[in-house]
Amino acid sequence: MILRCNIVELKLAHAFTIARSSDTLRRVVHVELEHDGITGYGEAAPSLRYGETADTVCSLLSSVNVRDIDDPFLAETLLGRISDGSRNLSARAAVDIAWHDWLGKRTGLPIWKLWGLRPQISIASSFTIGIDTPDVVAAKVREAGDQPILKVKVGVPGDIELVEEIRGLTDKPIRVDANEGWKTREEAYRSILRLQDLGVEFVEQPLPADKLEDTAWLRGHVDIPLIADENVRYLKDIHGIAYAFDGINIKLMKAGGLREAIRMIHTARALGLRIMLGCMIESSIGISAAAQLLPLVDYADLDGNILITNDPFDGCRAEEGQIRLLDRPGLGAVPRNDGVRS
Ligand code: MG
Repeated sequence: MILRCNIVELKLAHAFTIARSSDTLRRVVHVELEHDGITGYGEAAPSLRYGETADTVCSLLSSVNVRDIDDPFLAETLLGRISDGSRNLSARAAVDIAWHDWLGKRTGLPIWKLWGLRPQISIASSFTIGIDTPDVVAAKVREAGDQPILKVKVGVPGDIELVEEIRGLTDKPIRVDANEGWKTREEAYRSILRLQDLGVEFVEQPLPADKLEDTAWLRGHVDIPLIADENVRYLKDIHGIAYAFDGINIKLMKAGGLREAIRMIHTARALGLRIMLGCMIESSIGISAAAQLLPLVDYADLDGNILITNDPFDGCRAEEGQIRLLDRPGLGAVPRNDGVRS
């Protein structure tokens, strides 16, 4: 097999501000896995939260030799080579995604079909509104147009007033993500009580990941579900945090790909947890990969590719907030310069 990688700069339509960062450009890594004249595409969207950058991911991928793997169906052998402990898991996600794309193209089938899932079961995806001034937030709410569910970033001073303003502009369902921004359980408790009154559907990661006991206390004192994001990265994290949350947010880039995500889905179900499927800022490669799992989850937040203006691929997109799985081999994501449009 041949593995290639290159860094791609994705441009954001708006500066994207959350509780810990703000930026207008994201560097991701696109991967090609080639065998028997078939190319599978993959993507890594590295997160500084987990100590990764496009450069560390590329450097890991460039150091891996897969040319001696003659049997392309040996996914575990291939993925076992993309190993850097718990670092650079988005690099493994990229190769896992590319392998699934290759497998689908090799068999002529979409991944969802290979997994026995029904494409007509799709769910609405939320549209994320970052932290900003009241005027810009109002513009973003208007821009959300037909998107049926809003996800609002909170966890900074003035955040609840921002949600109040949005609630004044729309009666769409609102979900919030604090990104570890509330520092004490009392602050989180006071904020969530006000959010409950505004009809917010659930709260993602209210407290820092190291405040698990406080999160468990919070869960016992509020009425809306708490969903773990920064507290759960991959399979082995789920058991230890299950008592403090009502659900988990699975992202391919945190987990290391589709195979780990499937293991996480079944484990979370066994523990009675709800499942949200999330993403980073990604092109249509990463989003199309995550979309294959939609029939298995409760909530989707797959808007990474609709927040960018220079998507090099055409694939699954949350048009009017509904993601439609495509009937194309593999992930269904194709380079835009191929002239294919959905
Ligand atoms: Mg989150």
